[in-house]
Amino acid sequence: MEAGLDRGSGGCGGFAVPRVQLQRVTKIHRGSRGEEVLALREATVALDDGRCTVVVGPSGSGKTTLLRLIAGLEDPTSGTLEMEGRSMAGVPSKDRGVAMVFQDHPLFHHLDVAGNLALGLKLRRVPPAEQAVRLGEVADWLGLGRLVDRMPATLSGGERQRVALGMALVQRPRLLLLDEPLAHLDARWRVQLRREFRSLQRRLGLTWVQVTHDQSEALAMADRLVVLDAGVVQQAGSPTEVYERPANRFVAEFLGAPGMNVLEGRLAGMAENRPRFQCTDGGGAVGEFRWTSLGAARSTNAPILMGFRPEWVRLEPEAAGDLPQAEAVTAHGEVAVVEPLGHETWVHVQVGTNRWVVARGAGLGRWRPGDRVTVVIPADAVHWFDATTGARLDG
Ligand code: ADP
Ligand code: MG
Repeated sequence: MEAGLDRGSGGCGGFAVPRVQLQRVTKIHRGSRGEEVLALREATVALDDGRCTVVVGPSGSGKTTLLRLIAGLEDPTSGTLEMEGRSMAGVPSKDRGVAMVFQDHPLFHHLDVAGNLALGLKLRRVPPAEQAVRLGEVADWLGLGRLVDRMPATLSGGERQRVALGMALVQRPRLLLLDEPLAHLDARWRVQLRREFRSLQRRLGLTWVQVTHDQSEALAMADRLVVLDAGVVQQAGSPTEVYERPANRFVAEFLGAPGMNVLEGRLAGMAENRPRFQCTDGGGAVGEFRWTSLGAARSTNAPILMGFRPEWVRLEPEAAGDLPQAEAVTAHGEVAVVEPLGHETWVHVQVGTNRWVVARGAGLGRWRPGDRVTVVIPADAVHWFDATTGARLDG
């Protein structure tokens, strides 16, 4: 660790290793008409020391509420929050050693960048010499040297967010909380700040908690990913674990660009000695997938969900009398829409009257709408989910 983030003495108490644990935290807000709004339900989340945790979920899933609870800006309705084994009940925000960065972080328009960076330290009466040291190190970490004299109005969005992170870091927090810090930046700045933020987090060993609705940002930045939906933690783990073994349909469809193909249907027994999955559409069978062998799938007539990621889908010209290929699942369909994205192409294949499968890859540019194709999926790339609960079935 460099530059004393673990041994400073300003404003946030000791610098012992942080360990944050939320146990079954529920938060109910009061709506404008006095109604109860459940923002978090029984959330159990651990934040790893010196790591980057990214909480990802759609708008309204409880991300900001989670950060505000950790920061001490709100109190849980029930459940416990501990830092380093100590209950945070009744501990005011200013004594938790946390700093927050917001989307469109507010800067003071009448102060230049150096003035903005120093403001928090002045309020805490940090001695001027110490202020200068901290400003110097933060300007250095974030490459703010040539910006220090600039007024906020003259900064680009990306530069402003870099300054916002600087305003948090000068406080030498034990815990950094970032609420959608890249959400309003254009694509280039987003990629650049993703890289800058992440390399700084690593280099300084910061305990970093970022929330975002952007699944690609989450996968790119996280050591540990927490997926939130409707106030409920759906899954936590490394990005690879969560991407490759989604715990349920929501996670499967939410992560990935595009998300996992999930088809409703049922395992309908054998046809020509092949097990088959009948994709259903309002009750009727509209598409059929056949296996070489059943593998993890179970033989049942009950409704079930079949999932597979678009990058595993191969398309072949449809041939008469197509048979399942070795260790593969196949279906017939028609190319509906082709989206050439440059680095890869997305091909939407209609496999039933109202069902589509998306294939993505670099070699799919030759397909045209109307082409009849055989969709081929390696059998071990198939995931099964419960038709009612959406929970993962195959272990
Ligand atoms: P996110 O940051 O993921 O968009 P939030 O934590 O802001 O989600 O909100 C979660 C839910 O709680 C939403 O339904 C939101 O409308 C509600 N909510 C958040 N803050 C308040 C509040 N202060 N009063 C009432 N409802 C709130
Ligand atoms: Mg939010």
